[in-house]
Amino acid sequence: MFAPYCSTCASRVLLTTRRIVRFTSEETGLVDVVLRCYCGTEVSADATAPHATPLPAVSKPQAVPAARVLTRATAAAAS
Ligand SMILES: [Zn+2]
Repeated sequence: MFAPYCSTCASRVLLTTRRIVRFTSEETGLVDVVLRCYCGTEVSADATAPHATPLPAVSKPQAVPAARVLTRATAAAAS
């Protein structure tokens, strides 16, 4: 099983050995396995997701409003 990142699907996909299209030997001696995703895109077996853009830094933590506690008294008052 392979779990490369498919840029068309924008996610990692689980692909079996039946999805192998070809092997490409690199000059380094390593072998690159190319698979075909279910969407038709050829992906390298070791393709990883592009780095997500970091979220903007929060300058000041925002206070979370306290949850309103519903008691029998407040429930009776609301009805
Ligand atoms: Zn895909």
